[in-house]
Amino acid sequence: MKQSSTLIPTLREVPADAEIKSHQLLLRAGFIRQIASGVYSYLPLGNRVLKKVEAIVREEMDNIGAVELLMPTLQPAELWQETGRWYSYGAELMRMNDRHERRFALGPTHEEVITSLVRDEIKSYKRLPLALYQIQTKFRDEKRPRFGLLRGREFVMKDAYSFHTSQESLDEMYQKMVQAYTNIFSRLGLNFRAVIADSGAIGGKDTHEFMVLSEIGEDTIAYSDTSDYAANIEMAEVVTTYEKSNEALQELTKINTGNHKTIEEVATFLQVTREKLIKSLLFVVDEEYVLVLVRGDHEVNDIKVKNLLNATSVELASPEQTNEVMGCPVGNVGPIGAKVKIIADYGVQSIVNGICGANALEIHYTGVNPTRDFSVDQYGDIRFIQEGDPSPDGKGRILFAKGIEVGHVFKLGTRYSEAMNAVYLDENGRSQTMIMGCYGIGISRVLTAVAEQLADDKGLIWPSSITPYDVHVIVVNMKDEAQKNAGLNLYDKLKQERYDILLDDRQERAGVKFADSDLIGIPVRVVVGKRVSEGIVEVKIRKTGETIELPIEQLLSELP
Ligand code: ATP
Ligand code: MG
Ligand code: MG
Ligand code: MG
Repeated sequence: MKQSSTLIPTLREVPADAEIKSHQLLLRAGFIRQIASGVYSYLPLGNRVLKKVEAIVREEMDNIGAVELLMPTLQPAELWQETGRWYSYGAELMRMNDRHERRFALGPTHEEVITSLVRDEIKSYKRLPLALYQIQTKFRDEKRPRFGLLRGREFVMKDAYSFHTSQESLDEMYQKMVQAYTNIFSRLGLNFRAVIADSGAIGGKDTHEFMVLSEIGEDTIAYSDTSDYAANIEMAEVVTTYEKSNEALQELTKINTGNHKTIEEVATFLQVTREKLIKSLLFVVDEEYVLVLVRGDHEVNDIKVKNLLNATSVELASPEQTNEVMGCPVGNVGPIGAKVKIIADYGVQSIVNGICGANALEIHYTGVNPTRDFSVDQYGDIRFIQEGDPSPDGKGRILFAKGIEVGHVFKLGTRYSEAMNAVYLDENGRSQTMIMGCYGIGISRVLTAVAEQLADDKGLIWPSSITPYDVHVIVVNMKDEAQKNAGLNLYDKLKQERYDILLDDRQERAGVKFADSDLIGIPVRVVVGKRVSEGIVEVKIRKTGETIELPIEQLLSELP
């Protein structure tokens, strides 16, 4: 591509509204432009990187037997009502009406659409397992869109969904996905970790996030200094008081007797910050009301859900259902203490389908909820996991790091298939519910993660796997015929050799060209300058700054 005929609008000044390095550089180097808050155009260079990331993801997905399809962005409300998420997803779901006043959402994720598709098309165990994926634009009306592509309201995601007849089959696919993700993020040149995660609004049990280690990351990771243990701190944080938790439980019991409390009130009572409460003690439906755990009959109450649904009561999960959802016993709910984690799961039959607070100090649970692995001191004040605490796997001590979530894998179980009646006939002709997994990658967020982790003070530095072009050829002076001709010849020759070339053929000063080249960050730069009359060009490696001069004929053999 000739720079004179493409669109690379570089900027000298740091844009005022861009706070972090990657956002500033992606704007300055002409990769992206904002159209509205959290909504971006990918300019030609940004688009090329995006497509390369997509290609790597496609290759690794295809390798494990996942099959690509493309689902609609526009999703009818009815599908979301089937799972209850129309009510529980909150303001992040972009909703709209068509001309007939029918309700739609712009897809933030596709569990509902894929489950409806598969339930209609797959009837027999013979067609399972099945893994499908797409690369598509998602919409989430984020409260605080920021940091450029990191948190957009419109962004590109790879989302995969798998359907199984057994837990073992799901486990197998999950492991393949974890391996594929590891390959993908390694190929992208990222320094990352897979961490135990919270299943949040999507629901489900086992789940890992892929975190790129970075100061600007919005998540905190607690990891062991000596073993592989790593967890999102949302999962690692625990409350560790015994007596206090007894009191707390009594108070919460009162709260549940019709006397609903706001999250502020509960936080004040427990003497924790609102943020810590939201994160670790109680599952929050939105930021105003909390779900409350009650001793004895294990009732769940949440006025907000009722209001949302205009319902007079919320159907409660049986202990068996809760066991199934949580993978832990609920028969004997103890005080809210060291190992309490409450999770609500929204289904069609039961709005709040499962909730569990389980704690009997000194007992170690082996369920699916990793929070329980953290038992810190039992009699101190309410306290959260801290650096230096023993790692829950008994190996080493806990350290903290900031991370950018670039990928997320979930074992969903039957949360969606049950709500939407996605069933198949087994070998004996009996109807069974499909078991599901889902697996996302923030394709556009990856650009931010790479830029943040690999850039230097001069500009971006792309790894060769996703660089917009392989080689940046710079003709220092386009008015010099020898330089111009040599540059154009080199451009043709390298293209023939299947290199992707960006040729700076602009009538600009050399200083401008070099600064732009550093900013754009193509791994190899070839400078065609004065010495080309002697057949000599200069090659510079962007990452190391290493420079060599060599005869133009030798260039091809030296290029990576
Ligand atoms: P976050 O915790 O950052 O809000 P999430 O957990 O809500 O992300 P998932 O539902 O797990 O996101 O979606 C899968 C992937 O999509 C995430 O791992 C992330 O890389 C990406 N992603 C999610 N939200 C955004 C966004 N607003 N902008 C860009 N990428 C996003
Ligand atoms: Mg989110
Ligand atoms: Mg997340
Ligand atoms: Mg996530």
